[in-house]
Amino acid sequence: MILVPGFEGRRVAVFGLGRSGITAARALQAGGAIPILWDDGVSGRMQAEAEGFQVQDLTTADWSGFAALVLSPGAPLTHPKPHWTVDRAREAGVPVIGDVELISRALAARPSDQRPRVVAITGTNGKSTTTALIGWVLKSAGMTVHVGGNIGIGVLALPEPTPDAVYVIEVSSYQLDLTTTFAPDVAILTNISPDHLDRHGGMEGYVAAKARIFAAQAPDAVALIGVDEDWGRGIASGLNSRVITISSSAHPRESGDPVLSQGQGAGDHERSSTDTPERPQNRVPAFAGMSGIEAVPSAIRAEGRNLADLTPARSLPGRHNAQNAAFAYAAARALGVSHAAAVKGLLTFPGLAHRMETVAQVGAVRFVNDSKATNADAARQAL
Ligand code: ADP
Repeated sequence: MILVPGFEGRRVAVFGLGRSGITAARALQAGGAIPILWDDGVSGRMQAEAEGFQVQDLTTADWSGFAALVLSPGAPLTHPKPHWTVDRAREAGVPVIGDVELISRALAARPSDQRPRVVAITGTNGKSTTTALIGWVLKSAGMTVHVGGNIGIGVLALPEPTPDAVYVIEVSSYQLDLTTTFAPDVAILTNISPDHLDRHGGMEGYVAAKARIFAAQAPDAVALIGVDEDWGRGIASGLNSRVITISSSAHPRESGDPVLSQGQGAGDHERSSTDTPERPQNRVPAFAGMSGIEAVPSAIRAEGRNLADLTPARSLPGRHNAQNAAFAYAAARALGVSHAAAVKGLLTFPGLAHRMETVAQVGAVRFVNDSKATNADAARQAL
């Protein structure tokens, strides 16, 4: 668990007692805060009481004594209308934050040379695949990696920070809306298409929430952005961090194009694929000069050369997965993984269940489970 400092001896309201709310309360308490928990539902309150937390009806509480409201991402911040706890917090001048903001503050409280690095992934589609793929590639390269957030385990339940660790965190637009200081060393926006508009008051609000992943980044941090649509291109053009764009092309590479061999790097010195990357002087050195990667069906390429042929990567079929692979390649390289180790990781990724998962082959017919395609663009890409 990650201990959250900064609220020692102060009361913090926690609303929404699902997994992330209870975890936030534990992390706050471990850091010395006094969490006050509430939920509209009885079962969450019972679990909180069973764990010995203070459960108090926040409708009648004195809000002037709260240092913050930690809101569940399931409760609306702005649309269709702010949750009643948000109204109460605003009236009392209490900041409204979420679990991603808490991990951000917990890591920032450590001395800079003791701070683990953070890769954060958002986007309408491909978040979980890209998150899991990055986790796999970094682990395969010998790094200490903790994967969580909107995928799997909540961020504050991840193992405590060590200087060599990398946190790979999937973040939703709801979670991003509840951040103010979150500054990932590598921030990724896979793509944007209309989704969850009811919770963001329309496309503008949704795009603004996604763009928050880059808002607090340092100038030497790396931003990886899918630029197949105007929204991504617009965000990419306005950033101060080091931007690497990821674009898709329908055209596979021309025959005769040079292919980088497994041992050849795109712009920096190489290690053997089994070496653990050393912690660089810069938090994210990025690899020399690369400003864009192109995802084509079954390959990723940059500056006219193939970086990786994905044909043997059985778990990454389709152009959308080449896009996910491009993000993972760039993130790994930005964290000091060699070209050869990054490519090896892509090719050995086992894939995630329910995403382009082959479940049977009957004669010439392949049956694919892609039930995680929960919006039109995801289904289109998969088809
Ligand atoms: P998310 O976590 O954003 O929902 P997943 O990685 O779970 O995304 O993938 C969900 C579905 O979205 C997949 O089953 C596939 O149909 C589609 N998909 C995956 N990656 C992409 C991408 N880069 N662009 C568009 N659609 C994608």
